[in-house]
Amino acid sequence: MIFKSTRGQAPEKNLSGAVIQGIASDKGLYVPSEFPKLKKTWAEYAAMDYKTLAQEVLGPYAVEFTPEELKACIDGAYTDKFEAEDVVPLVHAGGADFLELYHGPTAAFKDMALAFMPYLMTTAMAKEQEDKTVCILVSTSGDTGMAALKGFEDVPGTCIIVFFPDHAVSPVQEQQMRTATGSNTYVTSIFGNFDDAQTTQKAILNDKPFGEEIGALGYRFSAANSMNVGRLLPQVAYYVWAYAQMVKNGRVKAGGPINICVPSGNFGNILSAYYAKQMGVPVNKLICASNKNKVLTDFFHTGVYDARRDFYVTNAPSMDIIISSNLERLLYHLSGCDDAAVRAMMDALAEEKHYEANPAIREGLKDFAAGFATEEEILAAIGELYREDHYLMDTHTAVAYKVYRDYKAQTGDETPTVIASTASPYKFAAAVSGAIGLPKAEDEFAAIDALNAASGVRVPYGLKDLKSREILHKGAIAREDMKDFVRETIKSRI
Ligand SMILES: *Cc1c(COP(=O)(O)O)cnc(C)c1O
Repeated sequence: MIFKSTRGQAPEKNLSGAVIQGIASDKGLYVPSEFPKLKKTWAEYAAMDYKTLAQEVLGPYAVEFTPEELKACIDGAYTDKFEAEDVVPLVHAGGADFLELYHGPTAAFKDMALAFMPYLMTTAMAKEQEDKTVCILVSTSGDTGMAALKGFEDVPGTCIIVFFPDHAVSPVQEQQMRTATGSNTYVTSIFGNFDDAQTTQKAILNDKPFGEEIGALGYRFSAANSMNVGRLLPQVAYYVWAYAQMVKNGRVKAGGPINICVPSGNFGNILSAYYAKQMGVPVNKLICASNKNKVLTDFFHTGVYDARRDFYVTNAPSMDIIISSNLERLLYHLSGCDDAAVRAMMDALAEEKHYEANPAIREGLKDFAAGFATEEEILAAIGELYREDHYLMDTHTAVAYKVYRDYKAQTGDETPTVIASTASPYKFAAAVSGAIGLPKAEDEFAAIDALNAASGVRVPYGLKDLKSREILHKGAIAREDMKDFVRETIKSRI
């Protein structure tokens, strides 16, 4: 198993090398060169617990790991810091099956990968005899930041720097990040949106002289965004798990098709579902759901990616993204690994802010459906499902539910559908409590209590007592100052 850059001009790596590197030196993203096929029967997978199944799925990608090493990573990640029985429950409501990915330490699906990644990273560093401290840069639209801070908190040989868009994440997300503990964690907001943060972060990662400068200080950069392939692979496991649970619950016969609907922003989560499909999960349609920032919806409908549009801050902020990084990986796979075509499209995106998919890619896009939800539609969907089924969704999951309902009405497709449920409703409590008709609370934290009193749904431990935690990271900087912030942070550690 080797990992190649989508732009074809960087050295090939094994998983360890790709994870440490983060983003390829030609600015491409590492992808597996093949998709190993699932070899066991669905009855066998359905009988496994989550960790055993994850080992089956991840093993063929992590060939340089011994089974014991991989098992230690999985056991370290999916402990009782996940508050649900068997890590990822699948809950039937509103005619769909919700894959609840948010029972980890920060109450969003990012925990599924970021609880695992530090173990993956440190095992990989030992294998590659990496003696530098790995400085992990993260730009976040809200949820990645805290999940990464939690995951890498006090992990030896690493430090982590998180950038988030000032005033564009939820109050709960901001409070989580600004109060993050750990001797190796650094956080600042930047004046700009997520795309600004991610673009500058990528530029820093690709800045060779700067890399040498911090190399002399005993550091090297990596990324914990979904540009790192180490983020995507643990997510493949839960889609295989979802299908196995559908078989176990009698929702589908082994081998029968399902649809998977994913609320998407940077396209990492749904790409993992695509990988699961390539490995042998019987998927009919992958349904890509967007909020009002519907650049992906338009792409799937027209084959044209056009970033020349207004950016909206919405009530589903973790999906407020115009430059969706992981789409690059899909373009690579659908084009038949045509790295020259990918380079041309990504150059066009960087220079002209738009590109057009070639015929091979357009053909592949037919495996997907796509749609979007406005802010009002999100709130209506939350209220509706709560009244109908007493099931509470967060604003991001509601995007997927609304798009799924539209898809079903438009196509008549009755295929059982798994909806990726990406955050706890408490993470966006003010919006959710308003949507189910509760009076406006004083602030986001009061809304958590009100929502809890009304619904009886348990508050995740990661969101309790948030308001009283000490603010440890006060910074707010210009986007142009991100590089200096990184330099000063590293120097402060020496
Ligand atoms: C990150 C995030 C998304 C979008 O996931 P991508 O992998 O970036 O497409 C959706 N919902 C929530 C709650 C998130 O945190």
